Amino acid sequence: MFITSSGGDWKTLVWRGLAPPKVEVFTWLVIRQRIPVRAELLNRSLSTINNILCPLCGLVPESVSHLLFNCSVAWVVWMHCAAFWGVNFVVPRDPGSFLFSWHEASVSGSADSIWHFIAFAIIWTIWLFRNDIIFADGRLDSAQLSFLVRTRIALWFKAKFPDSLCFVDDLIADLSVGDGLSASKRRFSKQQVWEAPPIGFLKLNVDGAMVSNGSKGGIGGIVRNNLGVCLDTFSLPIGPGPPIMAELEAIFHGLSVFSSNHRFKKFRLILETDCSVAFEWISNSTPCPTAFEPLVRRCRDIIASFSVVFRHVPREINLVTDSLAKEGIG
Ligand SMILES: [Zn+2]
Repeated sequence: MFITSSGGDWKTLVWRGLAPPKVEVFTWLVIRQRIPVRAELLNRSLSTINNILCPLCGLVPESVSHLLFNCSVAWVVWMHCAAFWGVNFVVPRDPGSFLFSWHEASVSGSADSIWHFIAFAIIWTIWLFRNDIIFADGRLDSAQLSFLVRTRIALWFKAKFPDSLCFVDDLIADLSVGDGLSASKRRFSKQQVWEAPPIGFLKLNVDGAMVSNGSKGGIGGIVRNNLGVCLDTFSLPIGPGPPIMAELEAIFHGLSVFSSNHRFKKFRLILETDCSVAFEWISNSTPCPTAFEPLVRRCRDIIASFSVVFRHVPREINLVTDSLAKEGIG
């Protein structure tokens, strides 16, 4: 199946209920190159504007193809999303063929792959950014652009597949997490091994351990980058207490290590714990006993102020930190 400039299969490509109706309408107009970009307005003598350059790069006249696909600013966003699946891409000439090839490039091959949400989110988000720059004196913030694209993809995916087992935050951190989970068939299969974080993120795994009579314990943690390279570790003794205290201390210490390190400032953090109780207390989904509240609140504060992605993972993928924590007991 390939595309012709007369349309045909584009229709089924667009009207699939993956994005809000106004976004589907917009996508349809993009394919037909009917959105009011500057060069187009000038061609149709609908505008007297002097500046017809692309508001994102300021280098090339703003056409539909340029603004949403060929522009270096836009292209970075497309490749940023494709990178979650390790896909490389060439820019086809017109919007219709591009969107069709994008559709065909779905790695999982499944119709409900999160991949299919990407194109809607990118063109819509670029369009809103472009309008903000032109009409509201907005500034281009490429990091914000990519982040909003990922957020939209995650939210639309969850709206379409509310029963999928992944969290919005997990999806934002790694879009490919959505694949396989939407069908609830391969539950957590992707998460049984430790995975490196996406570019722009660091991943911190932490764990705590107590000796059986609770007289002493240890905490451990490891920070790794998108290549899986270890950037920092800790392995420390802690005082007596219940096992949950060790888990909370490990989380808090890990967050402190991240938030106080200068080199980590330009990254966002994904924090993983295998302790579901600590996870639920900190993420506020179950009430926390008063005794642990001060520590839980301190963790929450750092998570909020650094927009940390906090997730609960199975024990199997957290084994390295388990041994670091046990080492910490001494
Ligand atoms: Zn441009």
